[in-house]
Amino acid sequence: MSKLRTETVTDVHHWNDSLFTIKTTRDDGLRFRNGEFAMIGILVDGRPLLRAYSIASPNYEDHLEFFSIKVQDGPLTSRLQHIKVGDELLVSKKPTGTLVLDDLLPGKNLYMLATGTGLAPFLALSRDPEVYERFDKIVLVHGVRNVEDLAYREMFENELPNDEIFGDWYKEKFVYYPTTTREEFRNMGRITDLMESGKLFEDVGLPQMNKDDDRVMICGSMPFNADVSRILDGFGLTVSPRMGVQADYVIERAFVG
Ligand SMILES: Cc1cc2nc3c(=O)[nH]c(=O)nc-3n(C[C@H](O)[C@H](O)[C@H](O)COP(=O)(O)OP(=O)(O)OC[C@H]3O[C@@H](n4cnc5c(N)ncnc54)[C@H](O)[C@@H]3O)c2cc1C
Repeated sequence: MSKLRTETVTDVHHWNDSLFTIKTTRDDGLRFRNGEFAMIGILVDGRPLLRAYSIASPNYEDHLEFFSIKVQDGPLTSRLQHIKVGDELLVSKKPTGTLVLDDLLPGKNLYMLATGTGLAPFLALSRDPEVYERFDKIVLVHGVRNVEDLAYREMFENELPNDEIFGDWYKEKFVYYPTTTREEFRNMGRITDLMESGKLFEDVGLPQMNKDDDRVMICGSMPFNADVSRILDGFGLTVSPRMGVQADYVIERAFVG
């Protein structure tokens, strides 16, 4: 039996020259936990060309959403960026991944730290009721180069606060903290620098991260993941070593973005 299903593209949104979002139909049989990734792709010369993608839509939605980079010479995304409504997208039947709430110990505050398209899994988790039930404060930090790379800013700044289901929870508990490294903006600097200097904690009104209160999910480039891990280890937090083992923080171990 094939490990792939064919979905139909229902919407494509280009944020800028390097970022876009694809929405597709969703098979009723697809089950996943928010934060997980699937293999997605297209047929090239009759063979599937697949890459790992975090599922950006929450698991109760009837569609699927993927937030993608455009790598100009990337085997998949040089093609995928031209996908249109009505085209087919291959999606694996069994999503998996390490960025799941199940693997976090109970805590007071949840930090979701992302660079670039590492935002994708947090788009699903930001709309997961369990996040709001389990934590008093949720801080989403999205680090990008330029302001135009702050995809989904409108959703965090205007849609979620007014959402029928999440609005009140969101206004009470959620802190959206976008930051840029190249262009002038209200928050500037690398996430790692903001953590080490303590500015991030000052700005969001929380004490420095600590093992008693804070839980963290990390999704970015390999160097970013490694740097943040080192900082968290220094703060006394411990990493979940593998799927199914609870700890203070989890990393999307294979993310390249
Ligand atoms: C678990 C997991 C989840 C992922 N989720 C996403 C996602 O939600 N959205 C997404 O766009 N990508 C995601 N990726 C990366 C994705 O799998 C592909 O690498 C990406 O789509 C580019 O594919 P490609 O064939 O065009 O180029 P590839 O040959 O795969 O990559 C070429 C080069 O481009 C760079 N690159 C690749 N992906 C990114 C990225 N996302 N951001 C910045 N630089 C990148 C790297 O330097 C890489 O060596 C994920 C990867 C993993 C392992």
